[in-house]
Amino acid sequence: MRTVTGRTDRVVVVGAGLGGLACALHLAGSGRQVTVLEREPVPGGRAGRLSVDGYDFDTGPTVLTMPDLIAEALGAVGEELHDWLDLTPLDPAYRAYYPDGSTLDVLTDTTRMAAEISRVCGPREADGYLRFVDYARELWRLERTDFIERNLDAPTDLITGNLLKLLTGGAFRRLQTKINQFFRDPRTQRIFSFQAMYAGLAPHDALAIYAVIAYLDSVAGVYFPRGGIHAVSRAMAGAAEKHGVQIRYDTTVTRVETANGRATGVLTADGELVPADVVVLNPDLPVAYRDLLPAAPSRRLTYSPSCVVLHVGSRQGYAKIAHHNIHFGRAWKGTFDEVIRRGELMTDPSLLVTNPSRTDPSVAPPDRHTYYVLAPVPNLDRAPFEWRGDLTRRYGDQLIGTLEDRGYVGFGDGVEVLQAITPAEWAEQGMAAGTPFAAAHTLFQTGPFRPSNLHRDLANVVFVGSGTQPGVGVPMVLISGKLAAGRITGEGR
Ligand SMILES: Cc1cc2nc3c(=O)[nH]c(=O)nc-3n(C[C@H](O)[C@H](O)[C@H](O)COP(=O)(O)OP(=O)(O)OC[C@H]3O[C@@H](n4cnc5c(N)ncnc54)[C@H](O)[C@@H]3O)c2cc1C
Repeated sequence: MRTVTGRTDRVVVVGAGLGGLACALHLAGSGRQVTVLEREPVPGGRAGRLSVDGYDFDTGPTVLTMPDLIAEALGAVGEELHDWLDLTPLDPAYRAYYPDGSTLDVLTDTTRMAAEISRVCGPREADGYLRFVDYARELWRLERTDFIERNLDAPTDLITGNLLKLLTGGAFRRLQTKINQFFRDPRTQRIFSFQAMYAGLAPHDALAIYAVIAYLDSVAGVYFPRGGIHAVSRAMAGAAEKHGVQIRYDTTVTRVETANGRATGVLTADGELVPADVVVLNPDLPVAYRDLLPAAPSRRLTYSPSCVVLHVGSRQGYAKIAHHNIHFGRAWKGTFDEVIRRGELMTDPSLLVTNPSRTDPSVAPPDRHTYYVLAPVPNLDRAPFEWRGDLTRRYGDQLIGTLEDRGYVGFGDGVEVLQAITPAEWAEQGMAAGTPFAAAHTLFQTGPFRPSNLHRDLANVVFVGSGTQPGVGVPMVLISGKLAAGRITGEGR
């Protein structure tokens, strides 16, 4: 494994996103003196907090999987997860709503889930589900140590015994093709393949290796921390500070200072030079290259689709919904084609509606409710829509209308607080192509082909977060923190 060269005692981490915080915890655990410089007044980056009129909204991730990775980061400084976070397993993990009026609960207990699938789709489909669970569990086992939780320097690093097993198991076929080997019913085919969107791809384009995402949420479990996902950011920042990491909020870094092929420190917007033996950069990788480093690589990346999120504080409650609700439109392949290939808004939207106040009423005023509505939309590379204009209001109204048609009676009338976040805001926050989901996980932007976490020329600059390896989403970003720290300490492989 390649590592940075020279002294590594004083590390400056730019950004207190989950990637930066995980890296800081692993470095503090190995005795480094760590300073984190964060532009915002709070930690978490995309896992941030929006507070309006007594309502608290998570700004980014809502589907929290793999809490053992949070435990591992906290464990690096000797802290226990349960001392910092109160996690509730969500049951169901999701409730799926189909255009024919049927619903399917995704239960992470496999016996109960097989019974649920049998109820909705028949016993043969339940058998397929049990075979899928075995397949996906094995896939995760094969991928995790060799390809995900490992610093990969070259394509040849992929050549391991597990690669052969993945090849023979069909992991490099298309995801939808593989899923359809287990499931015949379009409803189960959708609920176990839509997660390809998390990797920035349509299920018919993604590789079957990404069936692990469905495994991580639908089988390994989805959790909700009391106080919302932002509580994870606060817990990690709190534990880091307790163990000597200095976190300086409201501090924007404007440049990495360099001399003789090395970073010497970073310059802040106030003109302060913060010296460092090693600099770790958590901002979106292409933007870090563009704005903070001397020269950007010429490589053109393909970005994931973006999203519009409506944060709604409401007087209306809905007894029949779950914490996470997925409303599928009639269209399937056509919807992905619209957003990803043609750069259009969905004409028959599939939407995620999260209702955090159902699990934790403290995030809303008494007798009030919070909703988080996520609609995939094209990124700004694919479709440079003018989101700053009237479009945001019109699209928001359209989404609310769709929800009312799909059973959320009086949704518009119940709104007390409404904030719409669009690709324009993601771009303004420093995300390339106006997408918070980074470079898509195409084959050539995955594993050793994804932008490296080591700078090509500067011998002591490391990247962390969703733009580098292993990739996007909370679990991958927490792993990226460990991998980035490994580049500095030499630990891991
Ligand atoms: C709407 C949405 C929904 C999502 N849903 C899910 C989900 O359900 N499940 C899931 O697992 N993942 C989800 N994700 C993805 C997940 O949130 C991200 O992959 C992850 O949080 C990214 O973490 P990061 O550390 O890479 O970057 P960030 O969180 O972006 O952290 C970067 C940090 O750097 C700081 N920074 C940037 N520039 C500077 C500078 N110049 N100086 C100082 N500081 C700077 C930023 O303020 C920020 O704090 C979602 C994301 C969004 C936005």
